[in-house]
Formats: sequence, structure tokens, C-alpha cells
Amino acid sequence: MDFSFTPEQEAFRQVVKDFVKRETSKELDREIDATGRFPAELSAKMAEAGLFGVPFPELYGGSGGGVLEFVILCEELAYGSEAASAVFLLPVFFAGEMLLLNGSDDQKQRWIPEIVAGRLRGCFALTEPDAGSDAANVQTFAEEKDDHFVLNGSKIFISGADVADFMMVVTRTDRHPPKKYMGMSIFMVDRNLPGVTVNTIPKLGGRAISLCEIAFEDVRVPKEMLMGGYPAGLGQGWGHMWASLDIERVMVAILYVATAQKAFDEALAHAKTRVQFGQTIGRFQAVQHQLADMRIELDAARLLAYRAAWLKSQGLPCSLEGASAKVFATEMAVRVTTAAMQVFGGQGYTMENDVQRYVREALLGPVGMGTNHVQRTIIAKLMDLM
Ligand SMILES: Cc1cc2nc3c(=O)[nH]c(=O)nc-3n(C[C@H](O)[C@H](O)[C@H](O)COP(=O)(O)OP(=O)(O)OC[C@H]3O[C@@H](n4cnc5c(N)ncnc54)[C@H](O)[C@@H]3O)c2cc1C
Repeated sequence: MDFSFTPEQEAFRQVVKDFVKRETSKELDREIDATGRFPAELSAKMAEAGLFGVPFPELYGGSGGGVLEFVILCEELAYGSEAASAVFLLPVFFAGEMLLLNGSDDQKQRWIPEIVAGRLRGCFALTEPDAGSDAANVQTFAEEKDDHFVLNGSKIFISGADVADFMMVVTRTDRHPPKKYMGMSIFMVDRNLPGVTVNTIPKLGGRAISLCEIAFEDVRVPKEMLMGGYPAGLGQGWGHMWASLDIERVMVAILYVATAQKAFDEALAHAKTRVQFGQTIGRFQAVQHQLADMRIELDAARLLAYRAAWLKSQGLPCSLEGASAKVFATEMAVRVTTAAMQVFGGQGYTMENDVQRYVREALLGPVGMGTNHVQRTIIAKLMDLM
């Protein structure tokens, strides 16, 4: 058993840390939280640094990094800069991973180099008013007509749709499939097509990426934009979504580890400097134990995430381990960020202190990207309980 990264991976971690230090700041994160603005200006810098290309094969202009490099990159960006993390995830995960795992050769050759160059952003549009956890209940319909599909329906709670060039839209292409999850297809839809309307919904945290609702009214999408190509991708939507679930859970787990780590580091520094009763508050056993518990939980969550990532990197099954990491890391992040708020006392509750932002961000974890109730059900299924 070896718990260390390779020297190359450690060097890569340092490259990402240097990028974050050079190109971003705490002030930028605070400004973006206050305004809800997407920090698009970081795209060109990130492309120039080669970061968009990390998870993609050289064939498509990437640098051919593996799962562990992807995890290191996600962790360091999320720890160092919420702005940079947002700018990375929208193109690379929401569009790029979907294309890499499910696109036809033509689609990969055409679009992935655009992502690597920082010229294309995406979003993933699955959720609908009546299809949340019940994801197979999607009603947005794509009707085949000549050389197009015509989309009608609506989506809700879609991250970053207002700044996406292309939306990966999950639709139904068969109204009466033998099973509900069959007859679903994913289209890459140009946000500027006639009939597409995007509105934003105010939300609690993670404001660098907006939350949107989308309406599709007779939107004509060329057949070539069917994920996987036409006709090969027809009815393959459910499988396409499943293909990216393991890596998504690992990614989510490490993002929330990073958020909790920030809160922990700032609380620890505060405990070492804030003086009450003539000594630093870190000298009080109550505070010491709270920080010790935070540290233990962080370690446990990081190890679960790294183990799931390592299994994935080896091509081994990791659905149970990924779901476990997602559940534990997101719930840990809620506990650790709120504990950090307590260590800061009154100032932790003010908008001048960053910890309140970390708490708001952490609260999404158990709900988003497959709720933790649903993840636990998946774990139960994988233990043959259902
Ligand atoms: C900030 C944010 C960003 C998002 N980004 C995206 C995005 O980019 N793309 C996208 O497609 N979606 C996105 N979503 C939607 C998100 O994935 C859904 O909100 C989530 O899947 C839950 O669906 P729902 O909100 O309809 O809740 P519901 O499914 O109505 O669930 C409500 C409650 O019931 C529980 N529940 C439901 N069914 C079961 C069950 N079978 N067993 C046990 N408990 C159950 C849930 O766990 C939850 O606690 C985002 C949501 C938020 C808040």
C-alpha cells in the first residue's frame, strides 16, 4: 500500500497552486460572491496554462492526464479560488467529460479542442420540475423531423446555463418506451438557438456559477448534435449519464474536501492568534477538541475520495466507494464549516469573514449531484439489500 502521489503528480499540484496564486485572489472570490458574476476573464489564462487540457487525450489537444491529475486539479482550484474552480468545471466537466465518454469520434475531434483552448463552455441539463431524484421521468421531448430534432419542454436548477455555449440537454425521444429510463437521448444544444430561453434563479452559495431555468419552444437542433452521433446515440441517454457518475462523485467529494479544508485552515489560524482570558483560544481544550475532530473528519473524507479516485484510475469498480466518498465528504463539509464558524465566534457570522461563504457553499453538497438519500440507496443496492 502506498499513500503518496508520484513526484510528477506533486510537481503538477505545485503548478496549479502557482497558477491560483498568480491569477486569482480572495478579493476576486468575495467580489464574485457579492455580484454573482461569472469570472470569464480567467478562461484565457487557464487555457494558456494548459489546465483545460489536463483530463483529455493528446489526440484532442489535451495533455493526457489521468483521474488522479484531474482530482489534484479540482482540489487545488477549489481550495485556492472559487472563481478558477467555476471557470474550469463548466467546460471541462459539464461539456468535456460528457463528450469524451460518450461523443462520436467526429464530435470529440470537433469540440474537445475547443474546450482545451478555452473557447467552449457547457452545462448539463437533466433536472426538470417533475424529474429531480426521479431522473428518468424527464418529459422534455425531442421529435425527429427531417434533418433536425425539435425540442419542447423545460429544465430547472441548471448550473451555468446562462454562460454556456452548448447545453447538454437530456430529452425523451420515445414517448412509450418499455422501461422509463429507455428512450432518452442527450443533445448538445446551442444556447443561442431560436426558442431557447434562460432565466437565472437566485441561490444561497457557490455564486460564481449561476442557477438557471431553461425553456425550449420548438427548438430545431441538427441531428449531428445528438450525443454519440446519429443514429448511434438515439435512446442512449441513460447510459451516457451513468458513464460519468463515478467520476462525478469523486469530483464532488474532493471539491467539498477543499471547501472544508479552507474553513479548517482559517479556523486553526484564528485559534492560534485570538486571545481571550489572557491566552489564545486554541489553548482551551474545548476548542482544541473541536479542531481535532475537524481534522480527523477532513482526513477521513480525503482518504475516501482518493481511494475512489485510485480505484477509478486503475479501471476497478468504484461506484460504492465513490458514492460513500460523496456522502461522507459533503456531510463532513457541512459539519466542518459550521464548526469553523463557531471557532471564529461572533465574527464568523459576519459577512466580512469568509467562513459564512464556505458554510453556504457546503450546504449544497448533500442535495446536489444526486442527493445523499439517493446515494445511500445506491450503496444499499450495491450491498444487495434491494
Ligand atoms: C445549486 C444547484 C445546482 C444544480 N445544478 C444542476 C445541474 O447543473 N444540472 C442538473 O440537471 N441539475 C442540477 N441541480 C438539480 C439537482 O440535481 C436536484 O435538485 C437534485 O437531484 C434533487 O432533485 P429535486 O430538487 O427535484 O429534489 P427531489 O427529488 O424532489 O427530492 C426532495 C427530497 O426527497 C428526497 N428523495 C427523493 N426521492 C427519494 C428516494 N427515492 N429515496 C429517498 N429520498 C428521496 C431527496 O433526497 C430530497 O431530500 C442543481 C441543484 C442545485 C440546488
